[in-house]
Amino acid sequence: MVNKCPKCGRDTLSVDYLCERCRTRSIFDALLEQIEKRMKVSGVPPRYLHASLSDFKEEYDTEAGLFIMGPVGCGKTHLLAALCRNHLLKACKCYFINAPLFFADLKANLDKSHDKIKFVSEVPYLFIDDIGAERVTDYVFEIWYRILEARYSNMLYTSVTLNSVDTLDERLFRRLRDSTKLVEMEENEV
Ligand SMILES: [Zn+2]
Repeated sequence: MVNKCPKCGRDTLSVDYLCERCRTRSIFDALLEQIEKRMKVSGVPPRYLHASLSDFKEEYDTEAGLFIMGPVGCGKTHLLAALCRNHLLKACKCYFINAPLFFADLKANLDKSHDKIKFVSEVPYLFIDDIGAERVTDYVFEIWYRILEARYSNMLYTSVTLNSVDTLDERLFRRLRDSTKLVEMEENEV
């Protein structure tokens, strides 16, 4: 007996069930929704919750941490978020931070700063957007150095975006360059 799929109205053999096509579709949609939730929980900004590596023409290395450089508006944050999604799909524990906001948050919640720094130092996959955009005071330098040194020593994955090397402390720059692969983006690569 032929029934109608309750979703699309197409003929289907199963009673009370979606047709094959709608069933696959709904599993896929549920998976997407779950990933977007995990992107949000991992700290990815709302604008980039849909970011995916398939948005790019280039193929990027997903094994090594990337050091993403390029002018404002070329899609660096988009790429960083897409890398985060790629790792979330592999069930890796990820955390995405925007450097200036991270420091603003540390300063506003000094009592919790120790835990936050520890978390960021230890999370298996870290994505740092806009490093060097915050004003580098001794405090900022010391925190970054502690975080990057801990991650470097423990060989943890770190990807960063940067507008200009001029704004990043040279010691931090070297520490990052030793553990990442350079990607230079041109205007509008998305
Ligand atoms: Zn259907």
